[in-house]
This record gives sequence, structure tokens and C-alpha cells, in this order.
Amino acid sequence: MRLSENVRELQPSATLSIASLCRVMRDEGREVIDLSAGEPDFRTPDFAAQAGIAAIVQGFTHYTPVAGLGALREAIAESIAAATGRRTDPSGVVVTAGAKQALFNACFTQFGPGDRVLIPTPYWTSYPEIVRLARAEPVFVSTSEEASFKLTIEDLDAVRDSRTRGLILNSPSNPTGIVYTRDELEQLVQWAHRHDVLVISDEIYGRICYTAPRAPSVLDLDDDLLDRVIVVDGASKAFAMTGWRIGYSYSSPAMAASFSALQSHTTSNASSPAQYAALAVYRPEPRVEHAVRAMLGVFRHRRERVTSLFRQHLPDAWFVPPDGAFYLFVRTDSYYDSGSADSVAFCRWLLESTGVAVVPGSAFGDDRFVRVSFATAEDELTEGIRRMGEAMSARSTASTPT
Ligand code: PMP
Repeated sequence: MRLSENVRELQPSATLSIASLCRVMRDEGREVIDLSAGEPDFRTPDFAAQAGIAAIVQGFTHYTPVAGLGALREAIAESIAAATGRRTDPSGVVVTAGAKQALFNACFTQFGPGDRVLIPTPYWTSYPEIVRLARAEPVFVSTSEEASFKLTIEDLDAVRDSRTRGLILNSPSNPTGIVYTRDELEQLVQWAHRHDVLVISDEIYGRICYTAPRAPSVLDLDDDLLDRVIVVDGASKAFAMTGWRIGYSYSSPAMAASFSALQSHTTSNASSPAQYAALAVYRPEPRVEHAVRAMLGVFRHRRERVTSLFRQHLPDAWFVPPDGAFYLFVRTDSYYDSGSADSVAFCRWLLESTGVAVVPGSAFGDDRFVRVSFATAEDELTEGIRRMGEAMSARSTASTPT
């Protein structure tokens, strides 16, 4: 089939082969311990679900303004103001079908042929593809394990050229769980400002932070740094609402107008009942904080458990203890061999031999690693990591020359 120039370079997700193997194994009746989940394993808070149901029953099932219900844009702007202490403008908010659409709107309206966009590795799997869909060029900026995967000004200086137009930041990070401090963010945004580089800051895991009530945001920085900054966030992770598809961008009203114009010709508004459900979680009500805190308490506990289980069962497998999100990015390349020479082959081997599914690091631009999600019940996690430890230790013993 001849594909258009628009998608000629589009790569299907590297995680798909593992996901389809999982399905085949389950269909065969084999038990799979799935440590590959990219979403909270919690129910959407009941009050949000009820708000969605009420919207349907009451007939709020028609088009809304493209950028979202006025009340929702206001509630989101107020929630940003409450978190950061800054004055916010609802006309800077564009409600989207998930954070992914907000990223797409931002890249498609701001970048084009000839533009280069810096993406620190390891990166969330869709960034390069979204940049390519805008026909711009993703430029990967390697971070080092010594710097705990944090991007430095030297890293940025080494790759910048006259065509560099954008930088995508993601803190807390999927897949590493690293969280930039306010000062680190400030340095990165100052660098971008100095070089007229637009920053897209993906803060979708901002509420899932273990070191502070929320991760530092670029919106904590001074106004004069923010004229060319777009924040992407949404309800998916913080409120366990991935399936409702509610994300948003916050930017200058002028950029927001360009996102709305694009969206008016692609998807129009995000689902109307889902917007009503989201309205319930962006209101400053104690039950919202209560729901987030309850989920976070469980994640925090699992994070302790998972890191200690890895240290116990696989003391040689390196990772940065995550300060946010719900993943452990674990170095596994010392376990690769001629039979499974890369992260995809390693994950296939692990799944086939132990029934444990994890995501290959190649999906995030670093083949030496795999991503282990702790968005799974604790007994599954415990058993999954025990099996990983057993199989991987046996494998390294078998391949050690005597
Ligand atoms: N950014 C990151 C870093 C993510 O991990 C995800 C979801 N896996 C998204 C964006 C997309 O979020 P949504 O489901 O709201 O589109």
C-alpha cells in the first residue's frame, strides 16, 4: 500500500508486539502478570462518574465550544491558580481528547518542515511520532545515568542549532519517574527563552509525586519566562480517568486560539459528558483531594515495595528510584544475549518464560532498559518481580563464563 508523505515515517508502537503476545498467551489460558500498564489501576472517583452519568441523563450530549465548556475552562484555570499562586486566564485553556491531543495540537500548530524539536531520552513513546506528524524533525538529547537522566544546559548546548524550535519536557517522567526541581526547570526554561525555543511541558503526572504534594511546574516560574511555554496536563492519571479522554493545554491565549482552530477541523470538542465528569474533579472540593491522596498513598506504598523487591531479587539491575509517576525504568542489558539481543527480544523471553509482561526500553529510546509499571495490585507485583529475579538470575549464571 502506498502511504502519503504525512505518515511515511510513522512507526507503530514498539510495545504492540508484547501486548499481542500477552493476548495470545491469555487466549491459550496461560496466566500473565501484567507489569506493563500505563494507567492507574483505580476506579474513576465515583462522584466524577456520577457527574458523567448525570450529564448523559440530563441531555448534555451535544456539541460544546471547541475549546471546552466555559465552566470547565474556568475551573481548570482556577485549579492552576490555586496550585501555583499565579493569575490565570481561562482563555489560555483548551480542553482536548486526552493529553495526547493537546501535545498534537501544540506540535502541529507550532512546528513544521525544517524545524527541529529537542526530545530528551528516555522519552515518552509518542513524542517523536507527534513531532514527525508535524513534519518537523525530532532531535534526541541523551541524558546520562550519572545525572539521574536529568537534562543539563550542556546537553542542550551540544545539540542546538539554528533550526532548533522546540523542547519537550516531561516531569514527572514516563518512563524514568524523575522529577525536576523548580530551579532545574527554571534553568531549562531560561535556556529556551534565551534561544527563542518553545517549551512544551508535559505535566500529566504532576499530581503523582512522592517528594512533594505536587511536582514543580513551569507555571511556578516568573511570567516573563512563560510567553513561549505550553503546559500539557489532564485528568487521565491524577484522577484515574484515562478512558474519559480529557486533557488540556494551558498557554498564551493566542496560542490557545491556534489550537482551537486546528481542533475545530479535526475532532471538535472533547466528549461532552466526559467534560462534565472532569468538571467534578477540577472543582476545589475536599473529596477531590481525598481521592487523589488515597490513590497516591497506595502508589507510595507500592513504590517502596517494588524498589525493595528489586534490590532483594535483582541487586545488579540498576534504576533511579522514581520520585513521581508509577514506573521503574530498570537496566537489563547485562541480561541480553545472542538469543535475545535487545529489549524487545528480552521482554518476549521474559513473558514466554515467566508470564511477566514489561515494556521494552526501545519504546522510550533506550534499548538497555525495560519499564516496569507498579499500577498493579501488590501481590501481583510481588510475584512478578520474584519471577523476574528467578529467571534473570538463572540466565546470568548460565551465561557467566567459568
Ligand atoms: N504524556 C505522557 C508522559 C503519558 O505517559 C501519557 C499517557 N501514557 C500521555 C501523555 C497521554 O495521556 P492521555 O491518555 O491523557 O492522552
